[in-house]
Amino acid sequence: MVTNQSGIARGRLSWDDVRAVNAEVERRLRKLGVPIAEILVCPHHPDGVVKEYAVACSCRKPGIELHQRALLRHGLSAARCAVVGDKWDDIGAGLALGAAASVHVLTGHGRSNRPRVLRERAWLENPAAVMLATSLADALARLGTLTGLS
Ligand SMILES: [Zn+2]
Repeated sequence: MVTNQSGIARGRLSWDDVRAVNAEVERRLRKLGVPIAEILVCPHHPDGVVKEYAVACSCRKPGIELHQRALLRHGLSAARCAVVGDKWDDIGAGLALGAAASVHVLTGHGRSNRPRVLRERAWLENPAAVMLATSLADALARLGTLTGLS
């Protein structure tokens, strides 16, 4: 799992807060049958107030530095992976990464981000590279119909 947590840079969240949220996300995903191998966090934001994290970095999505690190650490190929997210930044990262599929879900920030996803998707050479789903469970069901994913 790759997550932007600019709340750290903005001084609104501590690492303990992020760890607690991640533990809950991990627990819920495990219940859906999605074990998490590792959680990679970008704590940065250029407008942050915590000096050490107030930077423009290459790990904040849609940057793919953390995704690439995860692929390397876990011996995965982007072409055999899918990216699922609720923001265009997640989908943009999936496209930049060359993931087999990038799936936009409506949960979380998904509903407010769907118009942008549809707008950006319309400009793609291959709009089918961005799949639309209502929830993570729906995304998993749709991905289950794809073959060749890790
Ligand atoms: Zn970062």
